[in-house]
Amino acid sequence: MDSARPLIVGNWKMFGLEPALEQARKVADSLALKPVRARVSLCVPATLIERMARVLNGSAVIVGGQDHHSEAEGPFTGDVSAEMLAEAGARQVILGHSERRGGHGESDELTSRKTEAALRAGLEPIVCVGETLAERREGRTLEVIALQAKTSLPDDLKGHAFALAYEPVWSIGTGLTPTLAQIEEAHGALRHALAERLGESGLRSPILYGGSVRPENAAEILHGREVGGASLKAEDFLAIIRAAE
Ligand code: PGA
Repeated sequence: MDSARPLIVGNWKMFGLEPALEQARKVADSLALKPVRARVSLCVPATLIERMARVLNGSAVIVGGQDHHSEAEGPFTGDVSAEMLAEAGARQVILGHSERRGGHGESDELTSRKTEAALRAGLEPIVCVGETLAERREGRTLEVIALQAKTSLPDDLKGHAFALAYEPVWSIGTGLTPTLAQIEEAHGALRHALAERLGESGLRSPILYGGSVRPENAAEILHGREVGGASLKAEDFLAIIRAAE
């Protein structure tokens, strides 16, 4: 793991059919012409992973998934396992995103088991945490995210490449972002939680920020980023990637 390099993750969510691969190709071509220091990945729907891996083969862009089951196989209709994503060509996976926690009732404990599964399959997990607006208003942000981080991360992570993403639920897809001071405060609390939970490993792993990152605000956010909506257009995603340099 090269943790000194920032990580910039595009999360395509449930967007992307065949024509969208062209956007990924443009990102890869631009980075080939003018490389960046950051590691860049595109986490795409499971159906696109194999084609995306082909398009990005030999490029600097990493391919990832957005979720998987905690078991390697079994009678789980409609689910895919970490091993299946890895076989399709994924090297990373987003886990515990608030759209999984909120929309599918996924708990910290389940996120932890999924994170173990990712490691078992050789995937680099990107584990998401973040407070709701109500929790922020109640002044509980730091307590909530530190607990989420500690409970969502398994012991097995020690010594493995992984990232934590701070993604306030109220900032995702809304155009609202925390102030830089609020992001710094959250990152500080998460770094502390990581160090307590994982010792030395917890000091090195990247902590990303995610939630309404756009070309206009990317330069102000000094950390690695997870980019949702704006990662679907090559031009916007590249502007965000280059703003980190
Ligand atoms: P957004 O999504 O950039 O569209 O707000 C962020 C995320 O879910 O990571």
